[in-house]
This record gives sequence, C-alpha cells and structure tokens, in this order.
Amino acid sequence: QAKEQGRNGYQIYDESMNAKALERIILESQLHKALKDEEFAVYYQPQISTLSGCVVGIEALVRWNSKELGLVEPCRFLPLAEEIGLVIQIDQLVMREACRQHKLWLDAGLPPVTLAINISGQQFMKNELLETVTAVLKESGLDPGLLELELTEGVLMAHTERTVKTLQALKGMGVRLAIDDFGTGFSSLSYLKRFPLDVLKIDRTFINDITTDPDDAAITVATIEMAHTLKLKVIAEGVETKPQLDFLSKNGCDMYQGYLFSKPVPPNELPRLLSSRRQPLPLSPA
Ligand code: C2E
Ligand code: MG
Ligand code: MG
Ligand code: MG
Repeated sequence: QAKEQGRNGYQIYDESMNAKALERIILESQLHKALKDEEFAVYYQPQISTLSGCVVGIEALVRWNSKELGLVEPCRFLPLAEEIGLVIQIDQLVMREACRQHKLWLDAGLPPVTLAINISGQQFMKNELLETVTAVLKESGLDPGLLELELTEGVLMAHTERTVKTLQALKGMGVRLAIDDFGTGFSSLSYLKRFPLDVLKIDRTFINDITTDPDDAAITVATIEMAHTLKLKVIAEGVETKPQLDFLSKNGCDMYQGYLFSKPVPPNELPRLLSSRRQPLPLSPA
C-alpha cells in the first residue's frame, strides 16, 4: 500500500514509512528527472606510466550535477540506478559523451591516450553491448584501439561461459579490455587466462596500505608478477603518496591512477593535465 503509485503519478505514503524509504523514493524520482534534464556529467582521471611519467590514458567517471543535491558521487546513486534499471542508460550516455569528447581532444592535437569506460554488470549482460560499442565508435569516429572497457572482477566471474564469447567479440572489434577492482572478488586464475584481457587494475584497498602492511605489499607484488606472466599491463588504483608510487615503480607496476597525480576533473581541466608530465621518481636505493 505504502509504495503504491497513485494514478496521478504521486507517491502515496503513510507515516509508517521510514525516512530511508522516503529518501529513496525522492532519489529515484530525481534520477529519472536527471536523465531527462541531462544532469549527468563525465569527469576524467589520468592514468600515468610509471616509467615515463606521461599520461597514457584517461578514465571516464560519471558525476551527477543535481540542481537539488549538488555534485553527487557515483557511490550515492549507481547502486539505486542499477536496482531500478537506469544504469544502462547512464553507461551509454557516459560512453557516448566520453568518445565524442575524446575525439575532439584528439582532433585538437592532444596526445592519443587510451579512454577507459566503466561497464556495469547489467550492460555487460545485455546483448546490445556490442551494438552500442559499434554505434558509439562509428558516430564518434574514435579509433577502437583507443577505447578500453573496464569490467569488474565480479561481473567477469559471474557469467564465465558467456563472458568469454562477449569478450572475444569485443576484442575482435579492436577495443581493449581491463579487469577493474582486481583482488576484491574471487577470481579463478584459470578463467583469467581464458579471458582476452589487456589490463589488470589492482583495487585501491590493496594500494592504500602498501607501504605499511606487508600482506598488502606481498599481494600487490604477486599480482603484478602474475599479470605480467599472463601478458597483462598493470594499473594501480588510488595512488595517493610518493612512497606508494615508489614501491609500485620498483616492483614493475606499469601505470598508476590516483590523487597523487590528479583527482577526476571536469573536461575543461583535462587538456592541461594531458600535456603535463610528472617526472618519474627516482627509485629508492635497494
Ligand atoms: P572505479 O572504476 O574503480 O573508479 C575508481 C574510483 O576511485 C573513482 O571513484 C575515483 O574517483 C576514485 N579514486 C581515484 N583515485 C583515488 C585516490 O587516490 N584515492 C581515493 N580515495 N579514491 C580515488 P568514483 O568516481 O566515485 O567512482 C566510483 C565507482 O563508480 C567506480 O569505481 C566505478 O565502479 C563506478 N563508476 C563510475 N563511473 C561509472 C560509469 O560511468 N558507469 C559505471 N557502470 N560505473 C561507474
Ligand atoms: Mg574503473
Ligand atoms: Mg576500480
Ligand atoms: Mg571501484
């Protein structure tokens, strides 16, 4: 009764409904409105080569610029968007906008870095993913080799049979594939071998304590070695300090991403970052 939708579209609720449920209903209606009013924006975070100190990629990260709520981070609305089936629309909007924007940057002479896009589990499971990627590449004119799709470990492991086929089809189109948040799920190494991946992103929960927790340090080093054995490039997520970067460079991590170089920035701030370069740090004496 409480959650029933009135005929006129208004929500009917009684006093027994708790504040959380009410907040959810408000957020839900605002999310629908946000899509309609185009309140979503794409921010970009650079990915840097540990070896050269150059930006070699950018990751597109969605933001919600809400009139009522201000700038909302994905963790506050993506879970609900998944639940009510809006996440695919949001993903598609981000992919379309990021590819369009990146092509403009390339045409303006900015360096040909990789553009990484996050793919939700729902979008991955939809057969249209291949069609969407094809359409977006065609309408933007972006080189498929510059597009990288990030899939979380959880999504990849949940549907292994179909996953291999889908990944192979995407590879066939020339796009790059990354496994995101690595270490947070339960990856079977044998599956990892079967997936045609290019990049492995070590989750930031490991990077966080890399210089203080010997277990996290050991896991990170082992992950880098394993990834290299499987011919994958490795990105460390959430690098915030020089000692963390120092440790990663010393242990052969190929790339990093994190507040140390830059937070995710709005598009007008990215060109400056793309042409800037952080000198590779001298390694600490062995
Ligand atoms: P993710 O793909 O693992 O992205 C990395 C997250 O870590 C981003 O959070 C980024 O802002 C944050 N981060 C980067 N460097 C640092 C650092 O040095 N320290 C800390 N503490 N955090 C750092 P964000 O932008 O809030 O996104 C959170 C998650 O939401 C993403 O995790 C991704 O799973 C999801 N997401 C973001 N945009 C999209 C999208 O367009 N589609 C889908 N399906 N998911 C998205
Ligand atoms: Mg990601
Ligand atoms: Mg991640
Ligand atoms: Mg994450």
